[in-house]
Amino acid sequence: MQVESRTLEETARRIFAELKPRTAPPDIRVEFRAFTSLCSRIRLREGRIMVRISHLLREAPTNVIESLLWILLAKLYRKPIPADAQECYREFVNREELRQDLVTLRQTRGRKRISAPQGLHYDLTELFDAVNAAHFAGQVSRPKLGWSQHRARTMLGQYDPHHHLIVLSSLLDHAHVPREVVEYVMYHEMLHIQIPVIEDGPRRSIHPPEFRAAERRFPAYAEAKAFLKRLPGSIR
Ligand SMILES: [Zn+2]
Repeated sequence: MQVESRTLEETARRIFAELKPRTAPPDIRVEFRAFTSLCSRIRLREGRIMVRISHLLREAPTNVIESLLWILLAKLYRKPIPADAQECYREFVNREELRQDLVTLRQTRGRKRISAPQGLHYDLTELFDAVNAAHFAGQVSRPKLGWSQHRARTMLGQYDPHHHLIVLSSLLDHAHVPREVVEYVMYHEMLHIQIPVIEDGPRRSIHPPEFRAAERRFPAYAEAKAFLKRLPGSIR
């Protein structure tokens, strides 16, 4: 719902008449302004009242705007602010501020490097379960799954043992990437859960021979490898 400035000006004149019944109402203008906060302003200059209301209140219910006009006009003329107006406006603003906080919170979460397993084309949870059933007899415990937020060009897939987390690059979450390719990357990362890194003195092998042998058992191994060669980045 949008409130017309003209309607608001009429409301403001009515409020003025209640506040100062013996004074002829001045010219009153009400405008919405693109303030970034909820703050609104009122001033009296050359016999005209200018009210500027934050555009964030544009969709606010009429009674909230009316309450705000009461508050602003009462303040301007140093009159007591009606309690119900104060309460109505305050309640709305509290809810609005809470909503804004939630928006900010969502944006902050979005800046983290991992986004939810449900991608645009592939759902990592579904993909993991399918690969697990087909190649691991469902024996791999499902880790946390996510797409890398910034289309990581250097890392197409990665298993993070500290967080028990598999991350696939969102570069793979695309219609032109065949499912078997995404499954292969998932399969590779799942092998990391199954086959531990071999520490042999100073030598450290994250892809020991046993790993490479298991990797080649993936049915579309050759096709997937060939496709991945055309993409920037590698899998780890
Ligand atoms: Zn690897």
